[in-house]
Amino acid sequence: MYKVEEGKIQLENGSISEGLIAIASGKGGVGKSTVTVNLAISLAKAGKKVGILDADIHGFSIPRIIGLKDEAKTKDNKTIIPPKSFNIKVISMGSFVDERNPVVWRAPLLSGALQQFMQDVEWGELDYLLLDLPPGTGDMALDIMQNLPHAEVLVVTTPQPTAVHVAGRIGKAAEKLDVDVLGVIENMSYFRCDDCGHKEYIFGQGGGKDLAKELNTDLLGQLPLDPIARQASDDGLPIVEAKKELEISKVYKKISETITSKNTEFDPNKKPISLQNGPACH
Ligand code: ADP
Repeated sequence: MYKVEEGKIQLENGSISEGLIAIASGKGGVGKSTVTVNLAISLAKAGKKVGILDADIHGFSIPRIIGLKDEAKTKDNKTIIPPKSFNIKVISMGSFVDERNPVVWRAPLLSGALQQFMQDVEWGELDYLLLDLPPGTGDMALDIMQNLPHAEVLVVTTPQPTAVHVAGRIGKAAEKLDVDVLGVIENMSYFRCDDCGHKEYIFGQGGGKDLAKELNTDLLGQLPLDPIARQASDDGLPIVEAKKELEISKVYKKISETITSKNTEFDPNKKPISLQNGPACH
């Protein structure tokens, strides 16, 4: 699917020089896709070239959140030119099927889609490729981790114990598959009262920190619950673009700075498993 040369991931039609980040969550609705988009834009604002591969093939929502207007185009009927929004190259099932239509593919076809998205998309020279994984530890998420051993998993969770408990499984799966965990992001950590500035911990406290400790990684940031951010996501104008002065946008900026300050070296000794060589075993 790719090879590592001169410290870069070399794709068929592009390269990744700084990070292949798989954004994961234990369950849906914790804000994984919203985090993917806002993080991508924050990285781009820091001068990085960024792509998003929406691997949440059944539940794709990236095109809506990032306000993608253009469709993917093909060149010579072989390579796919990814559309851009806010300077981010995006490829998603949503570029090929209508949001209201279910994708009725089963595992082998889905794995094929991932391979095609990695190989046939004209990614060009990227610094970061962010993969929005499907929630949980289903086949697709595990296949991706297994087939992209250079990915680092970034776990998104909300602070309550049940969410943290299920998110822990994805971290354990990464550990078993020898994939590094980049860190934990706690989303919807608190709601700050507009009038008095008081923080209300609606979903409890401490989950992200506990999870980071359990996974032996860092808590990269705690994002507030912000109705303006929710609205921005629904409108396809991500909050870091719409209102960069808000607390939530500043936390995103800080997280992206932490990520860019880490010096990722892609290990040439780790070998990606080609899906053509047979199905991944778990
Ligand atoms: P997931 O990808 O985990 O299923 P989404 O990114 O689709 O979750 O987010 C679920 C909902 O929560 C969306 O309506 C989104 O706008 C909202 N949301 C995400 N993060 C926040 C936040 N920090 N504050 C308020 N709403 C948020």
